[in-house]
Amino acid sequence: MNQDADVQANFWNESTGHCDCCGRQSKTIWGDLADSSGARAVYFVQWTVNSPEHMANFDLVLGPWGDGTSPSDRVLVSLLYRPRPGGGSFMVTSGKGRRADDRSLCDRALERADVVGTPLAGEVFSLVDALWRTEPRVEEIRALDSIASHET
Ligand SMILES: [Zn+2]
Repeated sequence: MNQDADVQANFWNESTGHCDCCGRQSKTIWGDLADSSGARAVYFVQWTVNSPEHMANFDLVLGPWGDGTSPSDRVLVSLLYRPRPGGGSFMVTSGKGRRADDRSLCDRALERADVVGTPLAGEVFSLVDALWRTEPRVEEIRALDSIASHET
């Protein structure tokens, strides 16, 4: 039942702001990840521009979307991307307190332990993989790998 190759990111919008810690420009993009049966998640990706020492936030609101669904059907899973020379890595983190930890979007934010080592982890990583492959704006995050230092 691996249909994940069919999952595509559909960009909705973006915004810019300033990093809380250093005031540099930050960017957020959001959209949905959908296959032929409809949206499986909505993504919010936030990063600090040209700042590989900052990890990028990938927040996924997982579950059904659209008519007949409600926020109580969905959960938030948050990941961090650490840029590294030659290719960075993702790790699951707590979604508590993220902007998408919002009852108009989801029932609750999951903790790392709610995801890692569970069947949900496979779904999360396949959706992130689809996002990484099919959302062209992620290129700006991928580019951080080449300016990241080996030490961070
Ligand atoms: Zn900062």
